[in-house]
Amino acid sequence: MTLSNRIETVESRLSEACRRSGRKREDIQIIAVTKYVGTEQTVSVLNHGLLHLGENRWQDAAAKWLAIGGDQAERRPDVAGQAVWHFIGSLQTNKVKEVVGRFTYIHSLDRPSLAEAVQRRAEHLGIVVPCFFQVNISGEDSKHGLAPEQLIPFARSVANLPNIEPAGLMTMAPNEAIAERSRPVFRGLRQLRDELNAAAVLNKPVTGLSMGMSGDFEIAVEEGATWLRLGTILVGRE
Ligand SMILES: *Cc1c(COP(=O)(O)O)cnc(C)c1O
Repeated sequence: MTLSNRIETVESRLSEACRRSGRKREDIQIIAVTKYVGTEQTVSVLNHGLLHLGENRWQDAAAKWLAIGGDQAERRPDVAGQAVWHFIGSLQTNKVKEVVGRFTYIHSLDRPSLAEAVQRRAEHLGIVVPCFFQVNISGEDSKHGLAPEQLIPFARSVANLPNIEPAGLMTMAPNEAIAERSRPVFRGLRQLRDELNAAAVLNKPVTGLSMGMSGDFEIAVEEGATWLRLGTILVGRE
């Protein structure tokens, strides 16, 4: 399948999921996860109009970022759109200086020490970084993220960091062959967002829900996702 075919397939399944759940397509954004592919395919993704790119490790993203998102002078001339980079993987504190300033969004804020490191770097650069708080809804040991009961105290501490803008919540569902098993996880994240807003610990309510991957994105749409992170099904693998 070509990239165009994959985009068409995802779009038609996405429209169906919107129709089933009474949602508007424009309320959902797609992040094309390029971690499995190299620079050529990433350029192609951008030139197909997918401007939101997701990567989960700086080491793997660096070459692509330099070719596509780096200084104008160094940038390849064949890149059409302006990429918006999303850091979606777990972020080590010692990588914060590489990631903040290059990636517009961070989807994996999950501990106070990381929030403080992001704050310091963002303040140094004079920018405000929109961040999703990652929550481990499924409770699996292998998943990063805050335990649900840690969310409100964490949010309260982030509310005092002026260079972090809370964007919403992010979760990873268990990687199961049966998509329907992700539903309670996604529903749990939405309920937690509503509880967070009801607790009014942030300076303003958050709307974002970053959830849904190749195997379960339609379920995520039905449960209220606003950002889908799609790798294999959309970008492919090399
Ligand atoms: C790799 C990755 C994705 C995309 O995975 P696919 O199943 O290939 O769509 C989404 N989110 C995160 C955090 C990832 O690491």
